[in-house]
Amino acid sequence: MSALSALGQAPGSSIDVQHYRFAIDLNDADNVIKGQATLTVKFLKRADKFTLDLAKQNSEGKGMLVTALKEHGKAVMFLQDSDKLIINAKGAPGSVHSYRINYQGTPTDGLIISTNQYKHRTFFGDNWATRARNWLPCVDHPADKASVEFLVTTPAHYKVVANGLKVAEKLLPGNKRFTHWRETAKLPTKVMVIGVADFAVANPGNPGDTPVYTYVFPEDKEVGFNSYAVATKILPWFVSKIGPFPYKKLANVQSKTIFGGMENAGAIFYYEKSVNDKGIEALMAHEIAHQWFGDAISEKTWQHVWLSESFATYMANLYLEGTYGPDSLKSRLEDDRKLIFAFEKQYLAPVVDSAFKGPMINMLNTNAYQKGGWVLHMLRRKIGDEAFWKGVCNYYKLYNGSNANTDDLRAVMEKVSGTNLKPFFYQWLRTSGHPQLKISQVYNDAAKTVAIHVNQLQALPYQFTLELLVDGKLYQMNIKGAETILTLSSASAKPDIKVDPNVNLLASFVQ
Ligand SMILES: [Zn+2]
Repeated sequence: MSALSALGQAPGSSIDVQHYRFAIDLNDADNVIKGQATLTVKFLKRADKFTLDLAKQNSEGKGMLVTALKEHGKAVMFLQDSDKLIINAKGAPGSVHSYRINYQGTPTDGLIISTNQYKHRTFFGDNWATRARNWLPCVDHPADKASVEFLVTTPAHYKVVANGLKVAEKLLPGNKRFTHWRETAKLPTKVMVIGVADFAVANPGNPGDTPVYTYVFPEDKEVGFNSYAVATKILPWFVSKIGPFPYKKLANVQSKTIFGGMENAGAIFYYEKSVNDKGIEALMAHEIAHQWFGDAISEKTWQHVWLSESFATYMANLYLEGTYGPDSLKSRLEDDRKLIFAFEKQYLAPVVDSAFKGPMINMLNTNAYQKGGWVLHMLRRKIGDEAFWKGVCNYYKLYNGSNANTDDLRAVMEKVSGTNLKPFFYQWLRTSGHPQLKISQVYNDAAKTVAIHVNQLQALPYQFTLELLVDGKLYQMNIKGAETILTLSSASAKPDIKVDPNVNLLASFVQ
């Protein structure tokens, strides 16, 4: 067991899944799926049973019924209990076992079986956060990452897309199609996926030898092939900044995800009407950035979800800054700042929200996206562009295929900047709220000086640099306590003061 795979485990777990092989049968007559899952499992400690996540059949007959469970052809005792599958199998520490689980049922969630806007039947995996268990027996936690294969049998008219590379596709007797996709990189279950529909497929480019594909409904072929092709511009921008793309292909897929976009590894799903979305470039930049942040580096536990969402948010902002200039970043940060202050009024909590009680979907909030994004922006300003990007590259090199938490990111950023970032990370990520600043000025007529008073009105003072533009000249003030005063000589009794002119501080200002 390598040090990194030990890191990639939820504490106390007795097993580490190494590989999933999911063979899944889909049909047009009903919504019953038939699955055969083969799990390669390594025992981390001596155990005589272990538990997987799988939603059991409920009183309405929905959910998954396990019909057989075997190790090397030998039946293994098991028990299904609500959303757990308890397997009575013995293992010694370090031993690797393979279990074959046959199951079937109608998924209540996780695999969305429905019709698209053109009334055609579609199947789309949608696992975030812990919905994979509704159709896949698995360890449904981002800390247990594993490689995955999908072997999907469908009526012949469908096309199938999934994580990784397509290694086989053939027609079977009975008007069926078999499609086999394989991903060798380790993924969390939240981004394992299949998409099955009557797709039109295009290959708009292969930037840096990574093939980019577009999968859209045939009715949206013209508009979708055109709008999704912007991915070929976004992908190389991120590669040049962060490091190699973590997967062997990137498919952008029109889908029925409940999200605007869902960053499934190497097969990103977008909402159905995204093909016509004016904001598609920003949306794609967010989801493509997730391939590095969220998919390749996954949070160790859900309370560190900001490491996925704020990176995707800020990286998209940086792509737009790089492509359209600094004003586009400024205006997005200004919009985000308003959202953050409005959100605080509904829910006051730190970004790393250890008291969060669920439901999971509520974790996808303004703190995890915009506030965390703002913190990354302030980190970049604090340590400078060079150290920031070096830190981003090192963080990816160190945790690609594994898991990280907030302190892991801090340690990387401290190393590249030579700065103690504990106070910075603590005040912005572990406490709630934001600095509320009152800025006032007092003129001394005799001395011809103006004293600029900056008062922190919130309970706990923050430490930060405040930029002021005074009569067109930029000053930086190091703010620490409740009041800081900057005295300048000034011919005018009331100089013009612009606070935070470059949009670099997450604070509210009263002048
Ligand atoms: Zn996201």
